[in-house]
Amino acid sequence: MSRKKPKLGQNFLIDLTARQRIVEALGDISSSTVLEIGPGRGALTDLLATRAQNLIAIELDRTLAPRLTEIWKSSGHVAILQADILELDLAIVRAVTGIAGDAPLVVVGNLPYYITSDILLRLFAQAASISRAVVMVQEEVADRLAAPSGTSAYGLLSATAQMHGRVEKLFALPPEAFSPAPGVSSAVVRLDVHPRFEELGVERIAFLRFLQMCFRQKRKTLVNNLKSADTAGTEDVLAAIGGAGLSPNVRAEAVPLESMAAIYRRLYSPRG
Ligand code: SAM
Repeated sequence: MSRKKPKLGQNFLIDLTARQRIVEALGDISSSTVLEIGPGRGALTDLLATRAQNLIAIELDRTLAPRLTEIWKSSGHVAILQADILELDLAIVRAVTGIAGDAPLVVVGNLPYYITSDILLRLFAQAASISRAVVMVQEEVADRLAAPSGTSAYGLLSATAQMHGRVEKLFALPPEAFSPAPGVSSAVVRLDVHPRFEELGVERIAFLRFLQMCFRQKRKTLVNNLKSADTAGTEDVLAAIGGAGLSPNVRAEAVPLESMAAIYRRLYSPRG
């Protein structure tokens, strides 16, 4: 039997233990401003509001957002914003909502699965405004985010996420933890934001583009992916791969980020 996809990825969390575990995974938030993505009917919201110094919740749904606003209207430390998370600038969200402070935000949310990748990429791009994120995603995405290099789940998403910090898969939940039940299992991941670009001597945008080239075709070797991208000659690519101590036949999924950065530096910033 086919399941109907709910509007705006609205699979509401009904597992009370899970809601507790998600909020606990944030650690001590008593002096933090927490940003909740997609509060929906508020499964996490009251627990967050009780524990956080401030809470900003971003909900796109035009019926749910006003309901939450009504509930929280007399709590000065809670702001509900009816907005699209994909259009929000996290650096200015406090100013928009009138919440004080300027420390990086702690982000939490049971993400709407139809835009999981877009939200994650947006969070990575705004990593300077975030200290930690705990998010519910499809389990398969959680596995990819947390996979170490050299495993079959490791790919562009893993490398991109891990360039922005430490990723941990915390626990999985079956479809029955939600209403309506989604068609997939879910899992909660935590990202502790510590971007590695400076440490590895690479420029963020250019290196992320390089990673995209490296993983362009999963079955191809690294040299073939880079060769077909046509920004460096085969000899140079082979020399850079050899210089990183890797086999000429290596695939991107087997290469740790430190070696990826060494290859990149040798090809694109030889003096760096
Ligand atoms: N947090 C609630 C819970 O755990 O029950 C709801 C989670 S539900 C999986 C995802 C929520 O994100 C929905 O309330 C949906 O309306 C909201 N949403 C969907 N797209 C959004 C967007 N672009 N920006 C902000 N919220 C969005």
